[in-house]
Amino acid sequence: MTSEEKQSLIDLANEARRRAYVPYSNYPVGAALRTKSGRLYTGVNVENAAYPQTMCAERIAIFKAVSEGETEFEVIAVVTSNGGSPCGGCRQVMAEFGLDTIVLMANGNGELAKETTVKELLPEAFTPKHLMTGK
Ligand SMILES: [Zn+2]
Repeated sequence: MTSEEKQSLIDLANEARRRAYVPYSNYPVGAALRTKSGRLYTGVNVENAAYPQTMCAERIAIFKAVSEGETEFEVIAVVTSNGGSPCGGCRQVMAEFGLDTIVLMANGNGELAKETTVKELLPEAFTPKHLMTGK
């Protein structure tokens, strides 16, 4: 993946971020997911007056992809004002679909703050293979 491709995915996530529904935290997050087949899915965080019903941008992008039949991901870009990293719940959902997915974290200016992988974000992850071999 070239640095231009990374930047365009970050820019897509940052553009999506403007559509975040965050009346309570005022902390908009945008995500952009590229599947191995090259399709793109975006997500934003969507808050709710009943706070626990809030959903993260990363999971919305992933769930959109899965609902369209895509389960093999190459890279996900996550943009926040300060380059924040995905929460534990999103790391677990990412791990479900592959530990080698690249994770790009960028700030509100679209600058890459950190590049890592799901494996690095969630060491010793519980994955589908544990259910298959756990008997
Ligand atoms: Zn999350």
